[in-house]
This record gives sequence, C-alpha cells and structure tokens, in this order.
Amino acid sequence: MTEPRKLRIAVIGAGASGIMAVVKLREAGHTDVHVFERASDIGGTWRDNRYPGITCDVPSHLYRYSFAPNPDWSRVCASGTEILAYLRSVYEAQDIARHVTFDVEVREARYAGGRWTLETSKGRQGPFDAVITAMGILRHPLYPDIEGLDTFAGHMFHTGRWDDRVELAGKRVGIIGTGSTSTQIVGAIVDRVGRLSLFQRTPQWIMRLSNVPIPEEEKAAFRRDPALLQQHYARLADEFNSKFAAAVVGQNPRVYARMEQMCVENLERSVADPVLREKLRPNYKVGCKRLIMSDDFYDAIQKPNAELVTDPIVRIEPQGIRTADGRLHPLDVLVLATGYDAHSTFAPMKLYGEGGVDLDSAWKDAAQAYLGVTIPRFPNLFMIGGPNSPIGNFSFLMTAEKQCAYAIDLIGVLAAGKARALAPRVEAMQAFNDAVKAQMSQTVWVSGCQSWYMDRNGNIASWPWTYEHFEKLMDAPDLTHYALTDTV
Ligand code: NAP
Repeated sequence: MTEPRKLRIAVIGAGASGIMAVVKLREAGHTDVHVFERASDIGGTWRDNRYPGITCDVPSHLYRYSFAPNPDWSRVCASGTEILAYLRSVYEAQDIARHVTFDVEVREARYAGGRWTLETSKGRQGPFDAVITAMGILRHPLYPDIEGLDTFAGHMFHTGRWDDRVELAGKRVGIIGTGSTSTQIVGAIVDRVGRLSLFQRTPQWIMRLSNVPIPEEEKAAFRRDPALLQQHYARLADEFNSKFAAAVVGQNPRVYARMEQMCVENLERSVADPVLREKLRPNYKVGCKRLIMSDDFYDAIQKPNAELVTDPIVRIEPQGIRTADGRLHPLDVLVLATGYDAHSTFAPMKLYGEGGVDLDSAWKDAAQAYLGVTIPRFPNLFMIGGPNSPIGNFSFLMTAEKQCAYAIDLIGVLAAGKARALAPRVEAMQAFNDAVKAQMSQTVWVSGCQSWYMDRNGNIASWPWTYEHFEKLMDAPDLTHYALTDTV
C-alpha cells in the first residue's frame, strides 16, 4: 500500500471518446490530464468523414453523452455536421481545450518503472501514470486491391477522404462498395449526378429507419422536461441494446425473426423490378454484416440514372471500370466506399509493456484483451474500443462511456495508493477470450458472411453477449482478475 497520489494521465485522441475521457477523469478528480491529437481539430471520425449524406446510423437520441443530453437533435438520425457541432459544444462547454495538444502524433508508448512515456512527432512526452487510448475503431481506410486502380484518369477518393473540391453535378459517378457509407451516399447524390453506377460485390440487408425531422414541439417538450428526454432515450436503448443486440447474439429469437421479416418485407415492398430485387437480396442471414438502416437507398437505386452493377470488376482503366462481361463503365468520378481495417487497433503506433514486451508480437495471431479494456503485461493502459468491445448496431458513445467509467474505477485504485501498477492476469484474459470464442459460435456474425467485424483469421471483434451483460461487467472491476503491484 502506497500513499494516495495525484496522477498524470495521457489520453490519445480527441475524438468523441477522448473528449468524454477528459470529462469523466475530471469528474473523478483527475485534473492533470494531457490529450494528444494527431489532427488539427477535434472530432475523430466525424471530422474525417464528410461524404454527402453522412448521418448517424443509430437514432441520435442514443448518440449522446449521459452528461450532455441533447433535446435539439434535428432529425431521427442527425447529420455528421450536426454531430460534430454537438461534440464541439461539449468540448467548449467543458473547457477541454486546455488539456489538448493538436498536430501531434503518438508514435510509440513505452512502459517502464510504473510509468508510460510517449514518443511523439513533437518529441518525448511524459512520464504518465496511466494512458487511455481513445483512437477510434474505423480509422484506416481500406483501398481495394483491384488491377489498374492507380491508372484511373478521373477523380478518385476513399469515402473517409472525401474531396470536397470535386463537383458531382451532372457527372458519371461510380461507387465501389455497398456498406452503410455507400448506402448513405447513393441516396444523397443520385438526384445530382448525371449517372450513378453502384458496383456491388455482396448485397446488404437493409432495415427501413425513417429519418424524419424531429418536430419543433417535440424538441420544446424535451427542453422543458429532461425526464421526458430521458424516457425517450431509455425507450430507444431498450429497442437497440436490449432487444436488437440480444437478437444478433442468439438471445432473442422472437425479435430476430421480426428483424428478418422487416428486412425481407422492406426489400420486397420497395423494389419493383424482380430482377433488380433478386440482385439486391443477400444470401446470408440478417445482421451477419452490420445491418444497414436507410429509408432512401432502395428508392435511389431504382432511379432512371442509377444502375446496380453486379458483374465482378475485372480492372480499373483510365476511362472507368471494366467488368467481367467485358463492358467498360465510363466514369468521371470513382468513389471507394470500401470500408476500413478495424483490426489494426493502434497502428502505426507501437506499444511496449512490461519488460519491453511488444504488443504487435503479443497480438500476432489475434488482438486480445480483457473485457475489451485492459491487456496483461501492459499495466495502467486502458483502451476505449479495444478488441471485443460492443461494436454492433449500437451507439458507440454509450459503449465508450461504460468502458471509460470502468477504466476510471481502476485508475482510482492507483490514485488511492492501493497499487502503483495494475494489469489483468493472463488467466483472466484467457478465460475471458475462451468464453468469447465459445459464445461467438451462437452469434449471427459467424453464420456465413464476410464483414469488417472479422479479422484475417476469422475472429470476430464484437461482444458476443447481451448489452446488459456488458453493462454489468463494466459496472465495477473485479480486482481479483488484476495483478496489483506496489513496487515498480
Ligand atoms: P463496409 O461496411 O466494410 O463496406 C465495404 C464495402 O466495400 C462492402 O460492400 C465490400 O464488399 C466492398 N468492397 C471492399 N473491397 C472491395 C473490392 N475489392 N471490390 C468490390 N467491393 C469491395 O464499410 P463502410 O460502408 O464504410 O461501413 C463501415 C462501418 O462504418 C459501418 O458498418 C458502420 O459501423 C460505420 N459507419 C457508420 C456510419 C454512421 O454512423 N454514420 C456511417 C457509415 C459507416 P463485400 O461486402 O463483398 O466485402
């Protein structure tokens, strides 16, 4: 047992979870908090993603910090611009700026003698008593491995690097990929472009979520009565976290059957042409890939200037895309809606734990952590959004807030002087990961599709139990699963 200590804490990333970490750390009495942000601004994914039609794909009333309820969301699913403005309002109201250094990339984090030192693009920082990583999950754009990609003569960019200078009006636009991102873009641009060709490798199940404006009277009622806003939130949380999340992990067959029915009905009622309908019908189970929420995609793809191309892409040529039927699809703009590598958790940052152990080696077969937050032999390091965090169709802010509270409970153990360092026991992580593997076999994610949840070895990165189980485990750390050390 040592004396209570004032801790120096580093947070990596000033996106939605980094901002939250500062608020929660300060609430718990930690004021010596230093945030390192690679970019020049806050916002993470909501700063980087500026593609047309970007909206939250869960209802916005779920996508909020518990300490900053927002009665003013303008639509059921708010736009990216509105979400970024929300994050900024919290950042400003909570005076987070004094904690943040921008334009600094953390290249290496090294643990020694009970403390972490960060090597950054602006020199060495630290030492710190604890580090919270808040770097986001979908940060590394995946570029398709297609012959001739760099020969394209028009404008080409990934959706996460949208080029605002490129005018789409009247142009022949091709989009590769049919995930949530692509679906949002198709609906947003189809009426503006000359011709839209959507290159589909695998169709997606789509649930109709009507993204209507929230009436002024409803917003006013939420403003007047915070309890009403809270009830609305609780209703949505029940719908998405309790029912939906339980259904995809095999715990609520009745809700799952209803989800399946809703998706099939949506396809059948929305798409008139039977040939197009069959091209759009997935041959895998609803929810295996992250379910898409949309109220305009099917309408958009049936417009006269839109075409769904299902012949495989053979190569990209200067003038457009050549498909297996020999046809050249001439294009002025090519949008790569080809998703993200969700498994290079910290890359290119290197992490070295106890005795210099290197995380890349520890994770060479699979990224493994204890409860998605901590890693054996990497003491006093806490991840928001680590491996096997709940990353299905939930609000990531809710997940992040629970993980942050869990991390701060553990940081509290250090601050109280009960230990200088703590890390989960190897056996605890092993037992957790064995349980993850066993339970994963019950989930829809392993029912026969490829998705960004799956790493190259077929491991699924998401949480295979109910959301309630996650909340319960995050509620209070079980210290018997941790190795606490006084001496360093
Ligand atoms: P994604 O779901 O991983 O979709 C990538 C798409 O690109 C898939 O259709 C994939 O086809 C296709 N693709 C990849 N490589 C290809 C190739 N070489 N040739 C042809 N097609 C190729 O990516 P995403 O749409 O960017 O969405 C990722 C996640 O981001 C979402 O699930 C969601 O969690 C999040 N997101 C959130 C929001 C929001 O809340 N606003 C919006 C958008 C995205 P296959 O299916 O055949 O692999």
